[in-house]
Amino acid sequence: MRGYVDENLCVACGLCAQACPEGFRMGEQGVAEGYRELPDYAIDDALQAAEDCPVGAIRIGK
Ligand code: SF4
Repeated sequence: MRGYVDENLCVACGLCAQACPEGFRMGEQGVAEGYRELPDYAIDDALQAAEDCPVGAIRIGK
């Protein structure tokens, strides 16, 4: 499982990188990116980040 960010929707609020740094970081383009496979312990945080993203830009999947 990993997080995917729709870079066309992301408004760079930083919430996901804060809530789940194991799965998200702010990329060089200034928007968030899901940068690696989620460790099991971080999946709940990633799902929460997806739910809390103000623009619905995050999808969690394979
Ligand atoms: S929470 Fe959503 S809008 Fe905010 S940085 Fe992450 S992907 Fe972008």
